[in-house]
Amino acid sequence: MTSTTHTTSSLALGLAPIYFFPDLIELKYMHFYLGGLAIGSLFPDIDEPNSSIGRSVSKYFPFIPYLINIIFGHRGITHRFIFFLVPLVFILAFIKEINTFLPGLHFFGISFCFGMFFHQIGDMLSGSKYYKGGIKNYFSPFGLEEKYFTPFPKIFRCAVGDIKEQIYNILFIAIILFELKEILNISI
Ligand SMILES: [Zn+2]
Repeated sequence: MTSTTHTTSSLALGLAPIYFFPDLIELKYMHFYLGGLAIGSLFPDIDEPNSSIGRSVSKYFPFIPYLINIIFGHRGITHRFIFFLVPLVFILAFIKEINTFLPGLHFFGISFCFGMFFHQIGDMLSGSKYYKGGIKNYFSPFGLEEKYFTPFPKIFRCAVGDIKEQIYNILFIAIILFELKEILNISI
């Protein structure tokens, strides 16, 4: 899945709770929420030096993506369910303290974790030359090792940048526009 589709899918999914429950977040904190979703949606690919986040990080910290890649491999630790769940639990436990430090910052943290989770879902939907779709050892250290996990039947899975992914991307953009229109109460 391309970084664009990772971002659009995460924004579309991440805006859904706000669409259904507008009181969850005040509009003045929306930039934290959307920023967290967008960056979190790309973050797990920090283990791939050629990904968009890998290239961005390399500019400032040239060794980090390579180091993570060498130690954990691509779709390693950053593509496991504990990688978004542990920080999320931590943020939820310290929500008050984070909010005292900077009001609204916890929205960034929470949506960053959501974004990482949605990225993982996106990778379960998309295959590549090397992966048939699904994430190896997703539930590690709790699940069965060496198994690719995906809840999506093969017919729904796409390859990087193929026509199916482009259709998904257009659908996600349409969903985002609809959600933003409703959330911001824009009348067209
Ligand atoms: Zn990935």
